[in-house]
Amino acid sequence: MKYCTKCGAELYDESMMCPKCGCLTADYKARSSKRDEMSLAIKIFMIIGCVVSGLGFLIPLAWTIPMTVIIYRRLENREPIGLGFKICTVLFCSQIAGILLLCMDTVA
Ligand SMILES: [Zn+2]
Repeated sequence: MKYCTKCGAELYDESMMCPKCGCLTADYKARSSKRDEMSLAIKIFMIIGCVVSGLGFLIPLAWTIPMTVIIYRRLENREPIGLGFKICTVLFCSQIAGILLLCMDTVA
């Protein structure tokens, strides 16, 4: 059993929010900051992927830039990203960013 840091109410171990005062628990904050770090890493690798593919002309920029923009916005708004989209990211944009996106579901 753990307790709310704000009002001291008893919380279930897996609870993310205090049922009494509604404040977020330390667990939730730790998880969301881990998610934010991962989001940042994904954005960086997506941009690197664009630059690399642009330089190599292996993959048209017309494909990688819109994908990066879409993923960037979804991460900002914390919207879900489809599995197909994640796989396309691995294949066409950035392997590292795509793999991080695939792993993110296990964190969130
Ligand atoms: Zn509370």
